[in-house]
Parts: sequence; C-alpha cells; structure tokens
Amino acid sequence: MKTVTHAARKIAILGATGSIGASTLDVVAQHPERFTVTALAANRQWERLLEMVACFRPQFAALLDPDAARELASAVRREGLPTRVLSGAEGLCEAATLPEVDTVVAAIVGGAGLAPTMAAARAGKRILLANKETLVLAGGMFMAAVREGGATLLPIDSEHNAIFQCLPAGYAGVPEKGGVRRILLTASGGPFRATPVGELVSVTPDQACAHPRWRMGRKISVDSATMMNKGLEVIEAHWLFGAAREQIEVVIHPESIVHSLVEYVDGSVLAQLGNPDMRTPIAQALAWPERIAAGVAPLDLAQIGSLHFAVPDAARFPCLELACAALVAGGSAPATLSAANEEAVAAFLERGIGFLNIAGVCAEALARLPARPIASLADALEADRAGRALARQLLGRQAVAV
Ligand code: NAD
Ligand code: MG
Repeated sequence: MKTVTHAARKIAILGATGSIGASTLDVVAQHPERFTVTALAANRQWERLLEMVACFRPQFAALLDPDAARELASAVRREGLPTRVLSGAEGLCEAATLPEVDTVVAAIVGGAGLAPTMAAARAGKRILLANKETLVLAGGMFMAAVREGGATLLPIDSEHNAIFQCLPAGYAGVPEKGGVRRILLTASGGPFRATPVGELVSVTPDQACAHPRWRMGRKISVDSATMMNKGLEVIEAHWLFGAAREQIEVVIHPESIVHSLVEYVDGSVLAQLGNPDMRTPIAQALAWPERIAAGVAPLDLAQIGSLHFAVPDAARFPCLELACAALVAGGSAPATLSAANEEAVAAFLERGIGFLNIAGVCAEALARLPARPIASLADALEADRAGRALARQLLGRQAVAV
C-alpha cells in the first residue's frame, strides 16, 4: 500500500498557557510528524511559556505584557533557544498572521481574543476556534472576514465541534438547504444544577469553578456555573451555522457524553458522543478532514448505563435568557453582555461580589446601553469598552481605560 506523507501543519497557539493550549499541545506532541509548533502566545506567564518554548522550540513566542516579554526574551537568549520573542497586542496579531504559520488555534480567553483571531481570519489561516467571545463580540464581521480572507474555520468548542460533525459534509450555513430543522446544544448544568437556589447567594469561586465534568480555565468555569457559557454558545452557534434563535434549543444533559445534536426535517437526529475531554474536538479539527488518535479513553456506554436530558430552569439560570435576548436584540448587545459578564466574573473571582450579582450586572448593562450597529472592529472594541466601563461602575469600581 502507498504510504501517504503529509507536509507538517505549522501551528500557532494563541492562549498557549491555558487549558485549551495544554490540551492542544498534548495532541500535537502525539503526532510530531504531522504538526510543528511554530508560535506560542499568551498573556504574561513568561515562566510557563518558557517551559513550553524549551520543549517545543517554536520559531516565535509572544506575550501581551511587555515586561513579561522582556523576561522571556532574556531567558530565551540565556538558554540558547531558537525563538524570536514578540510583544504587546501587535506581537499577538503578528503571531496570528505569520507567513510561517498555516493553522491558528484561537484559545485566548475573553474579548482579548477578538483582534488576533480577526487578524488570522483576514490572513486566510486555518482557524481552530475556541475563543467564542470573538463570535459574540463581532460575529457578522468575523464570519465575513473568514469568507473574504479565504480562511477555514473549524470550531473546537465541544458542542460546536459536535454540531460540525453532525451537519452534512460541505454544509453551506443555510439550515433549510441542508434539511436541518434544529440544533440541540447540550449543557451539563454546571456545579449548581441541583443546588437549592437559596444557597447560590453564598457560593464561593472555588465551588463555582469545580465543574463536575470538565477541567477548564476559571472564567469559562464560572460561565458554566451561571450558564452564561451556554448563552454565549447559542450566539456562537447562530453565527457558525447560520441558525436563527428559534432553531437552537438548549438541553440539560448532566453526563456530558452527548456533546450536541442536529435534527433534520425527516425526524432524524444525529448526535456526537464521546468522553468529556477537549482533546477529542481539538484532534478532530487539527486533522480535519482526516482522523487522528487523541489519547482519549474509548467510550464505555454499558458502564455509563443511562443518559439524562432535561429543560433548563430559567429561574436558576437567568444568564442563559439574557444571552438569548442579546442575540435577538443584535448589533452591540451581545458585545455589551460579554464585556459586562467578563468584568462581573472577574469581580466574583476576586470575591468582590456575590455569585448572583453576575446576572444582575449583566442585565443592567444590557438595559442601560442601547444596541448599536457593529460595522467595524473599532465598533466592536468600543462596545466592549463601554460594556466594561459601565459594569465597573455598577460594580462600584473606578472605571479605567482598557
Ligand atoms: P484559560 O484561562 O485556561 O487560558 C487562557 C489563555 O489566554 C492563557 O494562555 C492566557 O495567557 C491567555 N490570555 C488571557 N488574557 C489574555 C490577553 N489579554 N491577551 C493574550 N492572551 C491572554 O482559558 P481556557 O479555559 O483555555 O479558555 C480559552 C478559550 O477557550 C475561552 O474563550 C473559552 O471560552 C474557550 N473554551 C474553553 C474550553 C475549555 O475546556 N477550557 C472549552 C470550550 C471553549
Ligand atoms: Mg462548550
């Protein structure tokens, strides 16, 4: 049989020091003949990034924080590593658009991911998208940049990756044409799915971050506890798959085995199943349209025994409905919500506010800032800035320039 040889994909990982970054490097390390790590980028954890640079020896490393970038650059020189260090917001965008790179893993957390992910789209890269906030802040513009830049967009958020796998091959983003009736997004319900509502007022950040099924960064863990994460994912699904709000249904599924489903007009419902491990969607997208091993244990259905599904409790999870309302309002409303949520979650994690105040701050920001059209990256960044400033004011903090 003929041996197929692949030119190794040259990968940039934005958000390399985070949870998705670690899972990506794990899969990449299992297939050194297929993937070359060309650039690693992060916020300010230079010692952690240095360890990764020493291990994967990328051509480029980037840190947002200029002081941390300087520390990294001198350590790289000291250790004689072959890596050029980039710095600041421009350094992150450069890492996302390098001619040496063909694949960009967009795994920065929050609105900070927007500019470099947009730059990767305009540069026509193959983008593995974890940073859902890019689509929440500027979905229409980002999808246009993907089309115009000739980029390939592959979702690695587990639900969206599942939907991608269940849609017809070559799906053109028009549900009716593919015979698609609805998208069913599954949600675990997070750590507080069954906690008495009266106790939510006093839950701690560590309790909120103790997700029963997934190990993730702290921001997305809190978003899972409030179900804001699922709301942001409804918006993400809307843009990725061209589905209207009414075509997207959220279903609670505590086992996190069915990662999402697509319902067709003939009554067929296709689902993607697997153990809850981000290396599966990451490997699927890294190798697409081929398949590679991810290092994930096989699914043992007999051992799992039963799977459960339920309707989300709107009173327990007001953030879910807030996000759906922001999608319907359109324009800058989702960006306002996402920005206010980031500020409120950061305040909660620093123990400044209670868990239930997160939804309160988000609702108030949405009510006070009218939706405006988003026609440029500057509009999206301004909506993000305004949402954060108002949220900080509501949180009783001094508004500072971002
Ligand atoms: P994390 O907190 O573990 O890591 C975040 C990464 O982003 C770190 O490398 C950090 O250095 C970098 N970063 C933070 N702020 C930055 C900034 N201002 N500029 C540049 N880099 C910055 O987060 P995570 O859990 O890996 O999540 C990353 C993204 O992936 C999020 O958008 C999240 O919603 C999405 N996602 C994560 C998971 C998961 O299982 N962790 C699943 C689905 C989607
Ligand atoms: Mg998800």
